[in-house]
Amino acid sequence: MAEKSFKYVILGGGVAAGYAAREFGKQGVQPGELAIISKEAVAPYERPALSKAYLFPEGAARLPGFHVCVGSGGERLLPEWYKEKGIELILSTEIVKADLPAKTLVSAAGETFKYQILIIATGSTVIRLTDFGVQGADAKNIFYLREIDDADKLVEAIKAKKNGKAVIVGGGYIGLELGAIMSINNFDVSMVFPEPWCMPRLFTSDIAAFYEDYYTNKGIKIIKGTVAVGFTADSNGEVKEVKLKDGRVLEADIVVVGVGGRPLTTLFKGQVEEEKGGIKTDAFFKTSVPNVYAVGDLATFPLKLYNELRRVEHVDHARKSAEQAVKAIKASEEGKSVDEYDYLPYFYSRSFDLSWQFYGDNVGDTVIFGDNNPKSAKAKFGSYWIKEGKVIGAFLEGGSAEENQAIAKVAKLQPSIQSLDALKSEGLSFASKI
Ligand code: FAD
Repeated sequence: MAEKSFKYVILGGGVAAGYAAREFGKQGVQPGELAIISKEAVAPYERPALSKAYLFPEGAARLPGFHVCVGSGGERLLPEWYKEKGIELILSTEIVKADLPAKTLVSAAGETFKYQILIIATGSTVIRLTDFGVQGADAKNIFYLREIDDADKLVEAIKAKKNGKAVIVGGGYIGLELGAIMSINNFDVSMVFPEPWCMPRLFTSDIAAFYEDYYTNKGIKIIKGTVAVGFTADSNGEVKEVKLKDGRVLEADIVVVGVGGRPLTTLFKGQVEEEKGGIKTDAFFKTSVPNVYAVGDLATFPLKLYNELRRVEHVDHARKSAEQAVKAIKASEEGKSVDEYDYLPYFYSRSFDLSWQFYGDNVGDTVIFGDNNPKSAKAKFGSYWIKEGKVIGAFLEGGSAEENQAIAKVAKLQPSIQSLDALKSEGLSFASKI
């Protein structure tokens, strides 16, 4: 079987891979030095589009429109860009074996790839209900959303089951974005999740109440405090009903499951140090194995601002960690160094006409401010998180670019406050004046 050899290999062809390639391009890479090996059939793209504009009934986003790096306002890297730079895009190629001591990767088809420096960027995979043995969870028209192929299958089902019933399992950001999209596609939508409110890992009950009311006003039924325990299918094997733990049964033509992800570290088990479910790195994304880096969703890295190791499963970090790793690689080749990664956590989501951003950390006391009436023509509200008398996190729905920058600055600078009451009444102007 064929063997190919590269100076640099990026394993995975997602967001981090695309931003790493751009950074290699900026820093200078010789033709034939760099390869990206990806299970997907397309060049790196902005994954968040899959649960948003990709599923719009009209004017839907399609490739090549959202290849990286358009999501951060950068140049769009089309397949030709990689060709011009002499970067080899090895697509539709799943790596099934990694031998880090031998610096070798082997694909499902048996090809061998050698490298001098490896950047692991395999991201995460979805957690499936079949993983927990949920009865009937392998029925047709039960969807998960991670890769473009998954989104294409969902698009087909949306067409086939026009104006039908959709059940969304999970109340995280994927659940909320998919609930909205299915409603925009004229489906009768129910959302089911076990927690007392949606997005519990980030939202306070106050924040969640706004989104739940907004969704309810759009006709979406929100069912909390219970889980899907089984599915029934029709004679074609297509899902027909979702059985809930509390005994209720929901009719369904389409089910979309968003119950979380799991970093794809399996290939490297026992070969590299792990921490918090991910591959442990330093502030330059170097792993415990020389010449092996890990970036994006699967890296557990030192978050300098909070002085602890964290894993961050969001697109902004995927982009920035990839850039940092490539800068560090290039600098070390010249005997130089780069500054340590100093990341301010940033997440966002969009659904319907809503759009929120969050910066910083969500621990400690909270205050909510602004107009959080879901019936307002243009609701704008936010929340601060306060620890030891300092604002350490900030959330804003409906903010302008400048206002979002202001809350980012607050989360980074961590200003002291006089009192929670004063902060609440100052609201957004507290951030704007920092
Ligand atoms: P990925 O982008 O997942 O890329 C991993 C790549 O590795 C994939 O191409 C995969 O096929 C490939 N791969 C894996 N294993 C192998 C193998 N063995 N061999 C070859 N290739 C392999 N974040 C936000 O902050 N805001 C959002 O609004 C948002 N929306 C999202 C919507 C969806 C539907 C999804 C799935 C994620 C969303 N995210 C969002 C999260 C964000 O997209 C991820 O954090 C980001 O994509 C992580 O980048 P990554 O490069 O680490 O992994």
